[in-house]
Amino acid sequence: MITRLLTDTAEAARILEGGGLVAIPTETVFGLAARADDDGAIKRIFQAKGRPQDNPLIVHIAEEGQLAALCTSVPEYARRLAASWWPGPLTLVLPAADQVSRTATAGLDTVGIRIPDHPETRDILRKVGLPTAAPSANRSGRPSPTTWEAVREDLDGRIDAVFKSGPTAVGLESTVVDCTCDAPIILRPGAISLTDIQAIHPEARHRDPAEAVGRSPGTRYRHYQPEAIVRWVGPFDQATTDAASEPGEPSDRGIKKGYIGLNAPPGDYARLVIATSLEAYAHRLFHFFRECEQEGIMEIHCERVPLKGIGMALYDRISRAAG
Ligand code: AMP
Ligand code: MG
Repeated sequence: MITRLLTDTAEAARILEGGGLVAIPTETVFGLAARADDDGAIKRIFQAKGRPQDNPLIVHIAEEGQLAALCTSVPEYARRLAASWWPGPLTLVLPAADQVSRTATAGLDTVGIRIPDHPETRDILRKVGLPTAAPSANRSGRPSPTTWEAVREDLDGRIDAVFKSGPTAVGLESTVVDCTCDAPIILRPGAISLTDIQAIHPEARHRDPAEAVGRSPGTRYRHYQPEAIVRWVGPFDQATTDAASEPGEPSDRGIKKGYIGLNAPPGDYARLVIATSLEAYAHRLFHFFRECEQEGIMEIHCERVPLKGIGMALYDRISRAAG
């Protein structure tokens, strides 16, 4: 299969309607899309990614009006979350209607749904006119793609097309919120934080680690990993940089290292990203992992982050990349 590079939303919509696979940009990361009512197409998503079959896909829609056909009930707080954050990086997990493909939900009776905030992709979704399943467009276990080039690195020759668009704005996947209980439970942290969700429902909480496997199967897999070893370091600030020695370890070992963080670290690095905010850190993280890989960097140091705002999502992704 030759993977085409597209810039025409009508062409992307035609391929999807015909049961093909198209990588689409969103504000979070690139997604690998197929129509959600076509089991054959959904199975090809799992094959192309090498994704375990018990890891559910998120269903993407263009308009909130498409929600009713996908789920059996929507609690009041979920409607308010949607009103506040859609289109945006928020996935709502709701009780699935019978007609939703259980291949897409990995056998679960719930379905994760969102409206992505990306003009071209919303245009594609409107033109398809059907709910579209889309997990991140990377090989399973690899860092999610934040550029169309990264999609090609992982999936060239395995999917029909990649929609060419600029780097994704957020850089980390959506916040996934279970809306099947009395109060929202965050299954996967993202750009929309617990504080944001608590503004809608004060009893919202993060899931307990023990709840993870049953409720959000995908979160148990090895994930987000570049070829290099990933390690936490710091945190550093200008006052302590001179004294700290943690990552300064032997450049004499001859191992090329990379660093990403909010502060300048001690020690020698072949590649260094000093982000000006937690959002900028998140925006660069997965791209940085891939850049390090291309430069033969064998060890990546990530500065510890405060667990506020998108910091919680950074903590989650980096901890899992570190294994
Ligand atoms: P990806 O788009 O590759 O980040 O994968 C989608 C992720 O969304 C999965 O790994 C799950 O964590 C989550 N997800 C999707 N559907 C559901 C669902 N019905 N219940 C719980 N989590 C879900
Ligand atoms: Mg993924």
